[in-house]
Amino acid sequence: MLHRRGRRRIPRACVLAGLGAARVRRSGPTPVGVSERGSGLTSPKRRHSGGTVPDSHRCSTAIEAHCSTGWFDGLMDVLILGGTTKARQLATRLIDEGVDLCSSLAGRTKSPRPVPGPTRVGGFGGIDGLKEFLTDNEVKVMVDASHPFAAAMHGHAAQACRDLNLPLARLAPPSWRTQPEAATWHWVDDHDGAAQVLADLPDVILLTVGRQPVSHYLRLGPRRVIVRCVDAPEEELPAGWKVLRERGPFTLDREREIFSQGVATLVSKDSGGTGLDPKLRLAAETDVQVVMVSRGPAPGWGDELSTVDDAVQWTSDHIATVIEQ
Ligand code: NAP
Repeated sequence: MLHRRGRRRIPRACVLAGLGAARVRRSGPTPVGVSERGSGLTSPKRRHSGGTVPDSHRCSTAIEAHCSTGWFDGLMDVLILGGTTKARQLATRLIDEGVDLCSSLAGRTKSPRPVPGPTRVGGFGGIDGLKEFLTDNEVKVMVDASHPFAAAMHGHAAQACRDLNLPLARLAPPSWRTQPEAATWHWVDDHDGAAQVLADLPDVILLTVGRQPVSHYLRLGPRRVIVRCVDAPEEELPAGWKVLRERGPFTLDREREIFSQGVATLVSKDSGGTGLDPKLRLAAETDVQVVMVSRGPAPGWGDELSTVDDAVQWTSDHIATVIEQ
């Protein structure tokens, strides 16, 4: 449903977040030029580095918990698909630059980490819903910083941006495949493949693939398995399985504590990073077997970025290009 204010559209997402009254769409025939923009990304007049914030620009109560700046004027040049540390880091950096953005979360986690700046929560309703959202909100560029294993979201983002001819970047840490230790791991294509390989590997198995894929592993039956995840899996687990409800990132010391429960096999997704994360370093040190689930292929639209710095630069360049057009 579209809400109109005078002749301007109030985006549905803002209305859903209780922001309809605060919506102020960029006005005037000439967009703010790049040269006028303090940081190269946005107009100084739109920056919010303290001072008096007009009531109309304050975050609604509905999103206040997620809005560290305390205000939102309804402008949205950039949509960040989030749910990851990198997405939060990118939002923080772009907000510091005064960029008008909104972060989108799937809403899977019961108590998500606070995200700086304006946030919307929940699916878009497939590719068509996403296209409608992007169009209604006049989004100029999108950064898909959702997790490398959020394959459906990557596909939808790529298709929607391709259809709308919108600049898209995917921000994901580099795969661990190039790490020297990777040659010693059992690489599998998916979770079913991992469950198959685990049939021949020793307990205790530490499963660090998140809550959602747990159903693929139930076929292991009664074994000594530790499932580490933020929210407990919904499935009834076989005898011998236990759930460790914890949210990362984990320190090496914490991993040592967990491994000391007799962990002999570790299952991980190739979430990636510039170096190995502590559990993989520890596995290499202690000869724990590693089963690594590979990433799916990248969708054929959008630029691939691996650092937040690159994403800030990419966003700056692409907003500037769109505004110049
Ligand atoms: P997915 O299977 O690729 O996505 C399924 C559906 O969830 C999408 O089609 C979309 O619904 C909705 N969705 C996903 N990400 C969204 C976002 N950022 N904003 C709004 N809607 C979103 O995704 P997933 O693997 O379940 O992951 C869900 C979220 O958790 C992602 O944001 C991801 O960054 C985060 N996460 C995932 C993993 C992982 O291992 N998969 C790990 C850590 C964090 P519609 O089709 O209705 O738009």
